[in-house]
Amino acid sequence: MHILVVEDEQRLAHLLRRVLLEERHTVDLAYDGNAGLNLALSDTYDVVVLDVMLPGIDGLEICRQLRAERMVTPVLMLTARGAVEDRVTGLNVGADDYLTKPFAMEELLARINALLRRRDRHFEEAPQLAVGDLMLDLVRHEARRAGRVIELTAKEFALLEYLMRHPGRVLTRTQIVDSVWRYDLEALSNVVDIYIHYLRDKIDQGFSHPLIKTVRGVGYKIEA
Ligand code: CA
Repeated sequence: MHILVVEDEQRLAHLLRRVLLEERHTVDLAYDGNAGLNLALSDTYDVVVLDVMLPGIDGLEICRQLRAERMVTPVLMLTARGAVEDRVTGLNVGADDYLTKPFAMEELLARINALLRRRDRHFEEAPQLAVGDLMLDLVRHEARRAGRVIELTAKEFALLEYLMRHPGRVLTRTQIVDSVWRYDLEALSNVVDIYIHYLRDKIDQGFSHPLIKTVRGVGYKIEA
């Protein structure tokens, strides 16, 4: 999974990264609120671990802004010992769980896993994605456009799912590779362009309104 850690105490931040990497997660670090908010708004993370007390924007405000942008990424807040108000406020602004410092790494991993399970259950309850007349059924693993079934390979399906989870949002090649190819070290530098080309052939070919759009110099987005 792709995890963002926003924590200004660098020693703790590096420890968290090491522990999460050992669990085969990929990790981005931010040491202040502004950097953390910008990364979190990219909406490419499976979980955000968010310290409350940060230079710049604090963790509570970051969480509030994520929810205001309708992002549902699970947020685990890190609060100072005894700061009951932080916990209550954290849950009020949309954090999913909190952990009081100092904490054991096992506890952190258990909380993250619980958040991922909860999120997966949420996806199971809404197993279909739609953009215009394009439907993706995550349970039957089936794509349809205008009612017609489209055969996709596993990678094409994963790429399309990633695009459709972020409708209207521009996704960079790096974000796409990180999310869709993850541990596939053999991914070529132009793998995204190649697969977007495959997808377009299958999804947009023959339709007057193409859904997959190129944003020059940045990346791609899907939009009705
Ligand atoms: Ca702090």
